Amino acid sequence: MPLLVMKFGGTSVADLARIKNAAAKVKREVERGYDVIVIVSAMSGKTNELVGWVEQTSPLFDAREYDAVVSSGENVTAGLMALTLQEMDVPARSWQGWQVPILTTSAHSSARFIDIPSTNIAAKFAEGFKVAVVAGFQGVSPEGRITTLGRGGSDTTAVAFAAAFKAERCDIYTDVDGVYTTDPRITGKARKLDKIAFEEMLELASLGAKVLQTRSVELAMRYKVRLRVLSSFEDTDETSGTLVCDEDEIMESKVVSGVAYSRDEAKMTLVTVEDRPGIAAAIFGPLSEAGVNVDMIVQNISEKNYGTHTGAVTDMTFSCPINQVARAKKAMEDARATGSISYDDLVVDTDVAKVSVVGIGMRSHAGVAATMFKSLAAENVNIKVIATSEIKISVLIDRKYMELAVQALHDAFGLERA
Ligand code: ASP
Ligand code: MG
Repeated sequence: MPLLVMKFGGTSVADLARIKNAAAKVKREVERGYDVIVIVSAMSGKTNELVGWVEQTSPLFDAREYDAVVSSGENVTAGLMALTLQEMDVPARSWQGWQVPILTTSAHSSARFIDIPSTNIAAKFAEGFKVAVVAGFQGVSPEGRITTLGRGGSDTTAVAFAAAFKAERCDIYTDVDGVYTTDPRITGKARKLDKIAFEEMLELASLGAKVLQTRSVELAMRYKVRLRVLSSFEDTDETSGTLVCDEDEIMESKVVSGVAYSRDEAKMTLVTVEDRPGIAAAIFGPLSEAGVNVDMIVQNISEKNYGTHTGAVTDMTFSCPINQVARAKKAMEDARATGSISYDDLVVDTDVAKVSVVGIGMRSHAGVAATMFKSLAAENVNIKVIATSEIKISVLIDRKYMELAVQALHDAFGLERA
């Protein structure tokens, strides 16, 4: 029997009427001849509420109990979805993570998959069940405790099931009708993409396009799971939404396929750090231990005998999420206090945003950077930091120019046209 994975996000199961609407979509696939694994999120807002309850009860909470509480939202929707399908005469049952069992690491609140054995669910399909409704976002650790995968983790559950069960496709139903060239709230010219390559989606996802959890795209790329993002609020067919797939499946791709942004960035500069072997390790080691997700890194050229300094000094700039600035600052101050690094000043700029252009076509086309910089210059937007990879160019700019920059770049690369 061909098998589909269908995942419904929080807004798609926000109340009983929406669960019914989602169940009707599942039923249609069953009628087309599929066995279906449905992955559900908690009703929208539920996980936030549960997290809030945990934090109010115990500020320094035991992560195992956090997982016990926050995983419960998905249990409710899984049961309700199974009941709804039964009411529609579709043979269905619900599965909590431990019943599958979805085996994960014991890294509570950010667990990773170890194994998803297919035996139990396959046996139920063999008995005549048509749908297995699985609670997303959760699993069970080797110690037998309930785990969760990190916020947005139901996407990753869906892809992992699609890989484990060799599904024909993994359909992610959400409240938008696909992946866009950029955020349609920023420019009305944003266009829905029919297809996007895994690597591009990975960059867009990690750059702040919040359609899919980044890990789900990583997993889909590794196991070549064809992933489709589509709306649960519209009538949809096999051609709806955006297919995230191998680049070989995309006949012609533009040089740039999307413009992403991330609003909540900060830039920190260590002024006049001693320039010697090991200095980068002495800075970024403590930052990593403090759990700071450093993104861009720029080291300035070295200057000798600058000011009162004897020997070589340099400036080191890095960016990180704005809510990690306090942690990063403390890590640097502590490192300075122990003498492992020295610097004259630590300059923090929390008024920056990151804007990036992404496209696999960049690998074979020159001139993308020049076009990007010219178009920002034409808008008088000053670039503070630049970072590039094979398929991406990112800049840090003043946050107040973020929308303007996204619009200008979307125009410059002609993204409104297919
Ligand atoms: N309910 C979880 C969250 O809100 C997981 C998910 O929906 O993907 O983060
Ligand atoms: Mg989500």
